Amino acid sequence: MRRVPVLLPYPFAAALDYAVPEGMAANPGDLVTVPLGKRESLGVVWDGAPEARVAESLLRPIISAAPAPPLSVPHRRFIDWVANYTFSPPGSVLAMALRGFRGPAPRQKPARAFSSPDPEHPGPLLSPAQSEAAARLIEAGGGFSVTLLDGVTGAGKTEVYLEAIAATLKAGRQALVLLPEIALSAQWLERFERRFGTLPALWHSEVTPRLRRLTWAAAAAGEARVVVGARSLLFLPFASLGLVIVDEEHETAFKQEEGVIYHARDMAVVRARLAAVPAILVSATPSLETLINAERGRYRRVTLPHRHGGARLPEIGLVDLRRSPPERGRFLSLPLLAALSETLEAGEQALLFLNRRGYAPLTLCRHCGHRLECPNCSAWLVEHRGAGFLQCHHCGHTLSPPAACPACGEPASLTPVGPGVERIMEETAALLPGARRLIMASDTLSGPKAAEAAVRAITGRTIDLIIGTQIVAKGWHFPHLTLVGVVDADLGLAGADLRAGERTFQLLHQVAGRAGRAEAPGRVLLQTWCPEHPVMRALASGDAAAFMQAEAAERRRGLWPPFGRLAALIVSAASERVADDAASALGLTAPAGPGIAVLGPAPAPLARLGGRYRRRLLLKTARPVRPQKLLRAWLSRTKLSRQARVRIDIDPISFL
Ligand code: ADP
Ligand code: ZN
Repeated sequence: MRRVPVLLPYPFAAALDYAVPEGMAANPGDLVTVPLGKRESLGVVWDGAPEARVAESLLRPIISAAPAPPLSVPHRRFIDWVANYTFSPPGSVLAMALRGFRGPAPRQKPARAFSSPDPEHPGPLLSPAQSEAAARLIEAGGGFSVTLLDGVTGAGKTEVYLEAIAATLKAGRQALVLLPEIALSAQWLERFERRFGTLPALWHSEVTPRLRRLTWAAAAAGEARVVVGARSLLFLPFASLGLVIVDEEHETAFKQEEGVIYHARDMAVVRARLAAVPAILVSATPSLETLINAERGRYRRVTLPHRHGGARLPEIGLVDLRRSPPERGRFLSLPLLAALSETLEAGEQALLFLNRRGYAPLTLCRHCGHRLECPNCSAWLVEHRGAGFLQCHHCGHTLSPPAACPACGEPASLTPVGPGVERIMEETAALLPGARRLIMASDTLSGPKAAEAAVRAITGRTIDLIIGTQIVAKGWHFPHLTLVGVVDADLGLAGADLRAGERTFQLLHQVAGRAGRAEAPGRVLLQTWCPEHPVMRALASGDAAAFMQAEAAERRRGLWPPFGRLAALIVSAASERVADDAASALGLTAPAGPGIAVLGPAPAPLARLGGRYRRRLLLKTARPVRPQKLLRAWLSRTKLSRQARVRIDIDPISFL
């Protein structure tokens, strides 16, 4: 009897052995249905020798072959690679690859769902700079390479990489495009359609299960020629992948923080390498990781230095809040208000940016000083006045606004502290009563439909003033928007995040980049309490390169990424003592040696989350030392309570 290893889409430690029935091929990569306990499960015949731990007499046979093309060798190597790198069970990674496959694809009545994008379709005429950049992307050839496509906001980078997609289509291969917020990409899709005469296939959480099945099957059959989507798109099977693109590569949204914890930008490069195809990373504000790779010559670099169509970059000015503080209880300074009135009077549009949802981030009792906190998390409850509740932004816990302070019982003593976008909306209603306003935040603009309606209202000029959180920073092109005001430019600089400066720079630069993208010049005002901060100075001077160089020098000195490697261990338990004991046990058995440092254990900044107590340790190694092996040995020599959970986050982006 022949036995083969079958990888199942569950967090098991390894593939399980099954017997191959007479007449079945069961080659590596084949999708099969197998018995699992009393159920049946989908699985994939995996590579390597079977474990042979189970006696032949106990071995259960594969039930049947599943109707799908086999997972290719590079795809299987990718699944193994991601599992190994991220410290996850390979079955959990396989589960992402099989999400969307449920038996045979339903028969297609709108067979047009995957009509082929036409590379010969007459798209917009490229400028000479764009044509040259496109030619350089294409000259990289069909084998593995990584190219950073950068350049100022509004340079027309999208049109340039669409040419690389056109070349891939002409070569008869498929392209995969990762966007950070696919649900908000109506404008991107329009441009794709203008270039190729049809829409691409989409892959994200809002796609219906039926369409997912169709898309999965069409990608595997090579019929979906271009698939655009969120992180998990990386795990889709492709019959003949020819190109991998990551747009807005600096976006932290590419980091998946639950389940298999991985950075989709980094894994996209791995996928391209294993498939031996080119990857293109696109951004106006590339991450330090990518910049250093370009500097070292590991990545190629193609730059568009000017805005498309002669549009100029906006002028960025700082409003020193120490000199021009807003009135008591208000958040907009006189210089910003003056600029707003001017802009609106001229019939142009303005954007106020504040990266905080809701009305106020803190509710305080004026009588006793009590703060409304989440019962499950070490976090304040955020007031959402429009929706009529307070909410924890970490676990989702909600509370109706209490009539009296829950601590001292004083009636009507609770008062909001600090602004969220709703409060800025209220302030502008009083000060600019004529302005037609719209809030753009993930809770008010959930889903592609709502996003599309908002885009239409803005480009159709039925809105004068947009008040938005970080989702307004994402690649939008609003031609009549000429003023961007940043309500609290310092917001992202607090806390112990090693990338706080870099991220604040990227976010504010991207927000600023929404201004003046057409004929009318734009301007940007940043309200800050520390105008001498290097981030504020870099934004005002526009010298991104100098800022990133200073940032790099600092990280190099401390051996922080990308000059060293990090892995975070997040220990959690329902009981504080169990969490502390487990964290101390890990502290005692921590690895040591040249190029190895362990920081912690320490309470996590979010010391309680969803009712669990959290402690953190950080393993920091010099670049040649790989943390995975150290972690494996470390965990295996440490005795931990079964009530404690240890989450491993390789290359952490969040330090909460
Ligand atoms: P970036 O991504 O570099 O910030 P975009 O790709 O959004 O810039 O381009 C800015 C604007 O210019 C978009 O509205 C885009 O449609 C337009 N555009 C870019 N290239 C062309 C072109 N060759 N012809 C016409 N419009 C273009
Ligand atoms: Zn909570």
